[in-house]
Amino acid sequence: MGHVLGLRCRECAHMYAAEAIHVCEFCFGPLEVAYDHKAQHGTITRETIAAGPLSMWRYADLLPVSAESPVDLGTGFTPLVRADRLAAEIGLGELWVKDDTRNPTGSFKDRVVGVALTKARELGFSIAACASTGNLANSVAAHAARVGMESFVFVPHDLEEVKLITTAVFGGHLVAVDGSYDDVNRLCAELASEFASWAFVNVNIRPYYAEGSKTLAFEVAEQLGWRLPDHVVVPIASGSQLTKIDKGFRELTELGLVEFEREVRISGAQAEGCSPVATAFAEGADHVRPVKPATIAKSLAIGNPADGWYALEVVRRSGGAIAAVTDAEIIDGIRLLARTEGIFAETAGGVTVATLVKLASAGIVRADESVVIYITGNGLKTVEALAGHVGPSATIPPTLQAVADLLGRDGNLRAAKR
Ligand SMILES: *Cc1c(COP(=O)(O)O)cnc(C)c1O
Ligand SMILES: [Zn+2]
Repeated sequence: MGHVLGLRCRECAHMYAAEAIHVCEFCFGPLEVAYDHKAQHGTITRETIAAGPLSMWRYADLLPVSAESPVDLGTGFTPLVRADRLAAEIGLGELWVKDDTRNPTGSFKDRVVGVALTKARELGFSIAACASTGNLANSVAAHAARVGMESFVFVPHDLEEVKLITTAVFGGHLVAVDGSYDDVNRLCAELASEFASWAFVNVNIRPYYAEGSKTLAFEVAEQLGWRLPDHVVVPIASGSQLTKIDKGFRELTELGLVEFEREVRISGAQAEGCSPVATAFAEGADHVRPVKPATIAKSLAIGNPADGWYALEVVRRSGGAIAAVTDAEIIDGIRLLARTEGIFAETAGGVTVATLVKLASAGIVRADESVVIYITGNGLKTVEALAGHVGPSATIPPTLQAVADLLGRDGNLRAAKR
């Protein structure tokens, strides 16, 4: 792991050893992993990467862990799907969907948890913990089970039932907290300083956790034939994923793995019911004002996003935009993606698709750009969001006559029969 220089403060650049710390002692800025890219230049090539496993671990040399014994359920190298039918529907040209619904526990969180728990084990931790809006809970519980770590997962009490069951089944401790995610997160920050033997993946292990999201940039570039897209659309909860996709694209350029043509435009997607970063963007504000979330996109419901300011900075620097969409638009977005591309996304995916529609109709995402949207979670986890919106188009007795009557009533179906 000679390629990791340590942790660097994002504000004052003070360096620290690569330990379980996340805040700068001098300025309270967040810490980020720093690499020796000069030494890596030329030693990491497209060929060395291609020789690796068909998972996110093919990029292990670009992550802050040793690849020898990763905590892995088979995460990553998810399909990048050309989405011509969706593109046609909204008037775009080259459009791709990064389908992260296909990860082991059904969301992109498997990427960040894989890195976090691999690092936690390297640092000697045997207890995994997290504050979660749902998907992180699934992923931490599953990865901990895989390697026999004990887990403590804290979630807001009003989470989707599926996400509770698909976390509890892995046998760790699942604690529902009577409060919002932001309350849960505050509690976990306090717990992390009390229980030094717990690896809180998104608190004291956060700098390593965050790096896992870079693989979303690496895979897209490789799957496009080692080319960067012109524009990507990314959902924002804490804002970590968006900032690390940006970091991933820039590292590929620094390492000479892709040709630099122009900066990748990065746009952000939020739900109106929890849109502190979109609001700051719209107002041209220089800080992100916390809100109280009320949206069906519970996986994105962070009212006080830790990386909100940094996400804003990335979007502004790269020439992207941030938009927010209503719950009704989220449901339309889920249905549009399913109907055109056969991909069933959770509410966060609905936010991303609906935001794409909005940015395309505003001329911000353009038909002459190559565009990638990140679909980060599986629809089977949030089926209740669609209750009452989709279902059987008819209920009939099991007779030919009943089908004939049905076709007789419906001109389109009659045409289909001929
Ligand atoms: C957590 C999550 C996100 C956003 O993650 P941040 O890094 O906190 O912005 C996006 N999509 C899904 C499905 C998630 O679970
Ligand atoms: Zn600092």
